[in-house]
Amino acid sequence: KGLVVSFGEMLIDFVPTVSGVSLAEAPGFLKAPGGAPANVAIAVARLGGKAAFVGKLGDDEFGLMLAGILKKNGVSGDGLTFDQGARTALAFVTLKADGEREFMFYRNPSADMLLTPDELNLDLIRSAKVFHYGSISLIVEPCRSAHLKAMEEAKKAGALLSYDPNLRLPLWPSAKEAREQILSIWDKAEVIKISDNELEFLTESNTVDDATAMSLWHSNLKLLLVTLGDHGCRYYTKNFKGSVEAFKVNAVDTTGAGDSFVGALLGKIVDDHSIIEDEPRLKEALKFANACGAITTTKKGAIPALPTEAEAFELIKKASQ
Ligand code: ATP
Repeated sequence: KGLVVSFGEMLIDFVPTVSGVSLAEAPGFLKAPGGAPANVAIAVARLGGKAAFVGKLGDDEFGLMLAGILKKNGVSGDGLTFDQGARTALAFVTLKADGEREFMFYRNPSADMLLTPDELNLDLIRSAKVFHYGSISLIVEPCRSAHLKAMEEAKKAGALLSYDPNLRLPLWPSAKEAREQILSIWDKAEVIKISDNELEFLTESNTVDDATAMSLWHSNLKLLLVTLGDHGCRYYTKNFKGSVEAFKVNAVDTTGAGDSFVGALLGKIVDDHSIIEDEPRLKEALKFANACGAITTTKKGAIPALPTEAEAFELIKKASQ
């Protein structure tokens, strides 16, 4: 099996023990390991694929805990480094009663932001068949330079580049800066996944129709995906476009659904990039990815809710009966 290397941040989300409260009102918090690129690596491995995570953790209890989670889930930690000074990143996250998510990040700076280009395990990065990344690693130096170098090395070695910007607006100095920086690496990626909200944000429009999505098309791109929560996803390639509907599930926590979706898709295309050009096979892969996303919403947290291949097949079978 080909290797999926996922680059970026891994951190601990602290989520309130009760739902529908503000951060200030929360009576207590539970640790929920996360960070989109780490979730994607674990999603690939949970489904039986080969995955590695590249990033930096603090040399502290939380960093060691996160490294242990990668290992336990069969994700290679050969690309991990540990910072002797800065702490592992933390985020306090709550879903308030009005449905809005409230974030409070502890990154001043956190270890992930301090990854330098010299610390990259280039042998590992060059062995990737798919190299996946987000945009949080673009926000500050030196991590930004490490990100750009890793991307370039993976590309030179023949990897397919996959990008999920995973917008976290509170981390950026301004919305304008976020949009500009996210789009600054846009034309490198061959697979891009965005949510409908990110589509609106990036195009500065209030529609999510095909024309809006296609305004983000570029000549290196092979596949653009727009995820729509419980409405499934839309896909765009050079030659065709369409949509794949979602599975009906009892959603309790959507955290990580997008990462589960991406991990499932990358696990399918890593050994056969031609799936992207073959509409029936692409639709089949996206149905599988939708099933994985749906399952992830049925349990609390991201990593504990990522499915195995058997669980995904079971949902697909049940839905077809
Ligand atoms: P996140 O950032 O929360 O990880 P996202 O916004 O990137 O997620 P979503 O569109 O929420 O991505 O979800 C990804 C995929 O997961 C969807 O395309 C869909 O197939 C599935 N999914 C998400 N929410 C639901 C739901 N409530 N019911 C069924 N399927 C869902």
